[in-house]
Amino acid sequence: MLRRQFVKTVGAGSVIASSGWLSGCATTGGGNGPKVVVVGGGFGGATAAKYVRMWSDYKINVTLVEPNASFVSCPMSNLVIGGVKTMADITTPYDNLTKRHGVTMVRDMVTTIDAEKRVVKLASGAELPYDRLILSPGVDFMWETLPGMAQAGAKDKVLHAWKAGAQTVALRKQLEAMPDGGVYAMTIPLAPYRCPPGPYERACQVAHYFSQAKPKSKVLILDANDDVTSKGPLFKKAWAERYKGIVEYRSKHTLTDVDVAGSTLKFDFNDPVKADVLNVIPGMRAGDLAVKTGLATANKRWCEVDFLTFESKAAKNVHVLGDSIQIAPGMPKSGHMANQHGKTCAAAVVALLTGKVPNANPIYNNTCYSFVSAEDVVHVASVHRYDAEKKTMVTVPGSGGVSSSANELEGRFALAWASNIWADTLA
Ligand SMILES: Cc1cc2nc3c(=O)[nH]c(=O)nc-3n(C[C@H](O)[C@H](O)[C@H](O)COP(=O)(O)OP(=O)(O)OC[C@H]3O[C@@H](n4cnc5c(N)ncnc54)[C@H](O)[C@@H]3O)c2cc1C
Repeated sequence: MLRRQFVKTVGAGSVIASSGWLSGCATTGGGNGPKVVVVGGGFGGATAAKYVRMWSDYKINVTLVEPNASFVSCPMSNLVIGGVKTMADITTPYDNLTKRHGVTMVRDMVTTIDAEKRVVKLASGAELPYDRLILSPGVDFMWETLPGMAQAGAKDKVLHAWKAGAQTVALRKQLEAMPDGGVYAMTIPLAPYRCPPGPYERACQVAHYFSQAKPKSKVLILDANDDVTSKGPLFKKAWAERYKGIVEYRSKHTLTDVDVAGSTLKFDFNDPVKADVLNVIPGMRAGDLAVKTGLATANKRWCEVDFLTFESKAAKNVHVLGDSIQIAPGMPKSGHMANQHGKTCAAAVVALLTGKVPNANPIYNNTCYSFVSAEDVVHVASVHRYDAEKKTMVTVPGSGGVSSSANELEGRFALAWASNIWADTLA
């Protein structure tokens, strides 16, 4: 009999012990084995939780703290905005982490970390002790750079939709409600930000929708960067050939504020832009928890780590991975990359907790697919290896690549990629 293991919040001040409610192929909860707490059930955290269990032969207790009831994927969420996919297509329950792998799920938020005592505190007031802590809290936004967005209701009206979920649905509704002949304006922050090609894919998806349903409408891309940051020639070709007269790309547009009531974007050197639907993707930094706890040591923005273990350079026994980290050159902030961090970190944590030496030569790979229409896709891929001299990851020359053209075969590969990575992370 399988037992549900999504532990709801427990009484204030209490300590949650690993329940050991295990089933499926997970044989024991690890009993008195070492304790790993994972914060964040996204691509990085969920992968790490699963693989610590698997690679410790289910001897290490793993508790995963995540506020959301299920995993909603940012990859493919632009297709929901474009009307090609539904939220159900990008949503996966956490059940298998519990049923198959014996991960204890706690639906809550971690609020503080006591690295000395090795305890995290939850919003409910409960505490979780750990031997090793793994954090993958994703990104949060630098709202302080956009004063107008602090007004009441502003964030419900001007959406980012850069964390898949309620805002994905809300942005789709705004586009549906926009009259034909309207303007959708999206701003892109300076790199680094989550998913370099993501905004350009979104522009294609919105343009695809307009081309079918509202052909007099416009997609205006206002990019703080000097040029398209990923797969530039391929995206520009799609805009020129597929969405001529719909998409307009403007570089070097740094957003300084938003006049929410006037539906207007303000820039440092460029004229303000008024549009019917504003989609502001703000500047990003490591998730709030990482910043608040002093783990974001690079410009108070990103967390520096040892790439062999993902142990924080600021706190012992605390590992940080995914979008929150200070990336190595050429390493994107992506779900695929967070999944690779999760596995590398899991292997290192298992080694460290069982008296072994972590792998000295980790290699990560990455592929980012982007849909330029409902079916046609382009990709960019790269491989990264540890350089012991430089103590960082370096891109392996000639190992990656980029599509020669957008096509439907790549579309099938992209859908297979998504199914595979969701399964690798959660099944
Ligand atoms: C539109 C879009 C398209 C994208 N497309 C692709 C793509 O095609 N391919 C690709 O590889 N990547 C893509 N990405 C990027 C990818 O989604 C991210 O890089 C990835 O989600 C990063 O994983 P993560 O674990 O760092 O963060 P997340 O996946 O965001 O997970 C963070 C989790 O931490 C939880 N959390 C935060 N704080 C706390 C706390 N205090 N306590 C407990 N839990 C907490 C959150 O609820 C969340 O579930 C895309 C992103 C976007 C926005």
